[in-house]
Amino acid sequence: MIIAVSACLLGTPCRYDGAARPNAAVQALRERHQIVPVCPESMGGLPIPRLPNEIAVGADGTRVIDSAGVDNTAAFVAGAQAALERARRAGCAAAVLKSKSPSCGSGRIYDGTFTGTLADGWGVAAALFRDAGIPVVDEDHLEDLPDMLHALPRE
Ligand code: SF4
Repeated sequence: MIIAVSACLLGTPCRYDGAARPNAAVQALRERHQIVPVCPESMGGLPIPRLPNEIAVGADGTRVIDSAGVDNTAAFVAGAQAALERARRAGCAAAVLKSKSPSCGSGRIYDGTFTGTLADGWGVAAALFRDAGIPVVDEDHLEDLPDMLHALPRE
């Protein structure tokens, strides 16, 4: 199978703080699958390092803002679209994306208050992948990946 994976989980130092989040179980996927690294925030043109961003719902709708209040929604959307395009071109059947991230988080993300509080929700890229039919799992739920791949329609 061909699987899109958050680049920071593979060891690329692309997080907002300039660090990586290498995950041995995710890296081991290389033994059985073809891996396509994606970092939606980098692909959207955001610098490394950068201020942390969170998704916030306000009077003007859902926006992605950094901790200084700068609206980075356009960069997040552009990066998500670029990551999805790379995954589609490569033929990715699924995606393993970093938990809790405003781009990559699936199901639980920080709540927009910059207080370390989690809430139900999806990162911009993870939601785009999901809606495009590419199932997403995070590194904390890798045990779900075999069932996800098994459930995919056969060509
Ligand atoms: Fe990792 Fe995704 Fe953030 Fe890039 S956008 S640093 S891949 S969590």
